[in-house]
Amino acid sequence: MSHLGTIDNPLRVAIVGSGPSGFYATEALFKSGHTVHIDMFERLPVPFGLVRSGVAPDHPKLKQPMQLYDKIGQTPNFNFLGNVTVGRDLTVEQLRKTYHAVIFTCGAETDRKLGVPGENLLGSYTATEFVGWYNGHPDYRDRDFDLSSEIVAIIGQGNVAADVCRILSKTVNELKQTDIAEHALDALARSRVREIHVIGRRGPAQAKFTNRELRELGELEDCDPIIDPAELDLNPQSIVELEDKNNPVSAKNVETFKSWGTRGAPTKSKRCHFHFFRSPTALKGAGRLEKIVLEKNRLDGDPFNQSARGTGEALEMDCGLLFRSIGYRGLPLAGLPFDDKKGVFPNRDGRIINGNDVLPGLYCSGWIKRGPSGIIGTNRADSVETVQSLLQDLANFESQAKPGAEALYPLLKARNVRVISYADWRKIDAAEIERGKAKDKPREKFTKISEMLAVL
Ligand code: NAP
Repeated sequence: MSHLGTIDNPLRVAIVGSGPSGFYATEALFKSGHTVHIDMFERLPVPFGLVRSGVAPDHPKLKQPMQLYDKIGQTPNFNFLGNVTVGRDLTVEQLRKTYHAVIFTCGAETDRKLGVPGENLLGSYTATEFVGWYNGHPDYRDRDFDLSSEIVAIIGQGNVAADVCRILSKTVNELKQTDIAEHALDALARSRVREIHVIGRRGPAQAKFTNRELRELGELEDCDPIIDPAELDLNPQSIVELEDKNNPVSAKNVETFKSWGTRGAPTKSKRCHFHFFRSPTALKGAGRLEKIVLEKNRLDGDPFNQSARGTGEALEMDCGLLFRSIGYRGLPLAGLPFDDKKGVFPNRDGRIINGNDVLPGLYCSGWIKRGPSGIIGTNRADSVETVQSLLQDLANFESQAKPGAEALYPLLKARNVRVISYADWRKIDAAEIERGKAKDKPREKFTKISEMLAVL
């Protein structure tokens, strides 16, 4: 029997999920010096995960990694199986038997809950839904956001909240040449949103925006940032945080907030208000959202460990539309252990574990491994770590040849699954780019799976 990882006996790896961590794991395996054949499974017919359907349309530079993923996608030992849902069309056990190793890079597909009364009132949505909607994700394209309300609240102060705030406050002119979904641009053109309140439970020093994203909110064509300078007073622990050389982003963010606090009166037609030390305790309304009840917080704890504690002081704010932007969360997958508290697959350096036991041949990377943190590039180092663990385990793998996708196509055919290859995706890609040309957009995405399949 030839050694595993050679031309005669290639290492066969399944990757579940086609976002950044899946492609970076593929890249690391191809660079490993072993002969590796990769089958990448994706539930949508189209690849690239959050780079396609999470990154904001007005941030095209952040989508540049797609060029690398596309190169990887056309490598001979890479095989794409789009439109295949692991956990429904194929089981984890089937993959385990068909490959030497399986890497799960399926991201964090749902969102955290606020856990307050009225959270599900009409008019209260998750940022995940809104982001999916304006990016043309098939799961969210039929959502109907009522943009007739002048006042909008966004709960959370991370980069997703910044994205939502920008999309709500930009003019059609600023968005029309991006790859924003057509239905979203049409709805935003009719939007009556004027006052956007971005609400953080902790202080300005703890806001999670990266500084570039925050500054952008002060440079919009038709929206002024508004901040009450009194809310920028910092407690001693926060000053320690800002003086820490390893925490330059927070110091820059506070500088940015301060510069807005001293700007003159607003002149533009929309306003983005930043509030700190406030947590929603209830959403109210007769049938639909009308008011949000906020409790004033104080910070409690040592520097870098400060948490928000309610003071009992409550205030109400009118608001007809609300987006909860408080972080994503991974979903369990039948056949794998799940850490319900963290919303990840329990793992040690990317090896999936059940209690103290490593589950042989099963790995994870990206948000389903470490939780929803970091930027796109963070997933590269994360996937390299997982692939290193996998390569260290190589000697323990069964050395007999594994069939890979060839053994799975008949099963998928029997289930009437129309598997989308990478060549198929490139046809869909070309058709989207063509559709965009007439409107001077980089692409006009297909937002229904049936439309994507119809191209083929
Ligand atoms: P995030 O950065 O973790 O921010 C979540 C925000 O929600 C924080 O302000 C957090 O406050 C708050 N929060 C959490 N639970 C809350 C609760 N129960 N009540 C009130 N507030 C609550 O998450 P994200 O914005 O979803 O972003 C996810 C990741 O994607 C981040 O790493 C982000 O940088 C990245 N991303 C990057 C870009 C970009 O590079 N342009 C764009 C989008 C996303 P606490 O700090 O108090 O927990």
